[in-house]
Amino acid sequence: MNNLKVPEGKIEKNNGRNELVEKIVSLSKRRGFVFQSSEIYGGLNGCWDYGPMGVELLKNIKEEWWKFMTFRDDIEGLDASILMHPKVWEASGHVENFTDPMIDCRSCKSRYRLDTLSELINEKKMKKAVDAVKEKILGNAKLSHRYEEIAAETVNDPDPLKETFDIMLDDKELSELLLSELNCPQCGNKNTFTSARQFNLMFKTFIGSVEDSSAVVYLRPETAQGIFVNFLNVQSSSRQKVPFGIAQIGKAFRNEINTKNFLFRTREFEQMEMQFFVKPGDDKKWYDFWKEQRLDWYASLGMERKKLRYHDHPKEKLAHYAKEATDIEYEFPFGWGEIEGIHNRTDFDLRRHEEFSGKSMKYFDEEAKDKYLPYIIETSAGASRSFMAYLIDAYYEEEVKGEMRSVLRFHPKLAPNKVAIFPLVNKDGMPDISRNIEKELRRNFKVFYDDKGAVGRRYRRQDEAGTPFCVTVDTQTLTDNTVTVRERDTMLQERISIDKLSMYFFDKLR
Ligand code: ATP
Repeated sequence: MNNLKVPEGKIEKNNGRNELVEKIVSLSKRRGFVFQSSEIYGGLNGCWDYGPMGVELLKNIKEEWWKFMTFRDDIEGLDASILMHPKVWEASGHVENFTDPMIDCRSCKSRYRLDTLSELINEKKMKKAVDAVKEKILGNAKLSHRYEEIAAETVNDPDPLKETFDIMLDDKELSELLLSELNCPQCGNKNTFTSARQFNLMFKTFIGSVEDSSAVVYLRPETAQGIFVNFLNVQSSSRQKVPFGIAQIGKAFRNEINTKNFLFRTREFEQMEMQFFVKPGDDKKWYDFWKEQRLDWYASLGMERKKLRYHDHPKEKLAHYAKEATDIEYEFPFGWGEIEGIHNRTDFDLRRHEEFSGKSMKYFDEEAKDKYLPYIIETSAGASRSFMAYLIDAYYEEEVKGEMRSVLRFHPKLAPNKVAIFPLVNKDGMPDISRNIEKELRRNFKVFYDDKGAVGRRYRRQDEAGTPFCVTVDTQTLTDNTVTVRERDTMLQERISIDKLSMYFFDKLR
């Protein structure tokens, strides 16, 4: 068996898309994982629809997350509304700060997010531009010193060039110089970028029948604020004591400047967030705890560990609310990308909501007879971004007995269908036996019945959809009531008695 997981050396950074992503997009459409939103009208940029297979995969990812995070005695669940009081977003800093720096190409009018521009520029060009700036600032002691500082800080980073490039773009003076050395990724012209301007990513709408400024509300750009404002409601109703957490899964909306790479950056997406409230002073311990737990979660559901890493944020790139932050990154075909952020948010959020609402957000520690604002450790994962990572990670092309097969090696817990049931032929009572097995298994599992075409073809169709087990009713079944169970990855087959099938799958899918 010859694994062609990712055609090594063939991955090119061509505007962030490549062969493997193209294959996944096409398989997603063909097999009903993901469709373009409003496709018959030409699609809506940054929005996607999950088809019959996709909705199962997404639901399974969310369910596994929910179990992992809330089947504990120190985490409660919540489902807050998407629309919230507009003051929430003033208190959170989103009205003022939830902006991305944006640049335009004067020549072709393409628009880019400055802080993610590096994703569109290959290493050679990045190095050339950084070297050119280094040359230019030779006589300028202040800028040279600034550059040296950046280089020293990034030297131990897994990708020092990209990190240096990103920090330079974030620096007002170095950014201008660097931009003048770059070519527009779209039209290829050099020195055509405008200076950076700030662009607020929140979608605005109106509540009620009057469309004036007093009726403005926002589609939430994150689920976290619904948790913060409900902190005391949840704590008192569940009688939790600090440390404890609140978990929530829900839609979030961001008017992203550039949407790209399939589900990686979309305008509507789902988040799985957990905010853990701790005593100040215990924050470091809990930050480290959740950092480890969360990366392990991805690996426990089959994601390749070597394709997962932490990216700790350097101090000057921390968000305004954060004391410490790391991204859990996955190595996508277009490069490493964040799938989850872990932040030590200090007491910033509760303090701000206390200020803006005029209501106390303090926790009363009955044992210590002490009142304080807890610190918050946030774990913020994208359900849709994780979906894409799981999909890519599971995709293999293999040569089996001289034939190619595409297979989605989902962890059985994530697989959309768990079992496919086939009668070998549509006669001799095999369809009836198969239908009875289907009926029995359907009580507990998502299963699929297929009686079309040769069994080999049916196996391939299920491999491509990621179904971990196929059950075939064959001639032997007629004499001894056993069936063949074939496992997707090893392709090994074993005979199982029909009356033991449910238990067999319960065991395998546990
Ligand atoms: P990025 O820097 O990629 O824009 P972020 O740092 O703004 O992400 P967070 O605000 O920390 O992201 O959001 C937490 C998680 O939500 C991310 O790790 C990601 O999985 C998901 N997420 C954020 N923005 C998007 C988006 N536009 N499309 C899909 N998922 C997203």
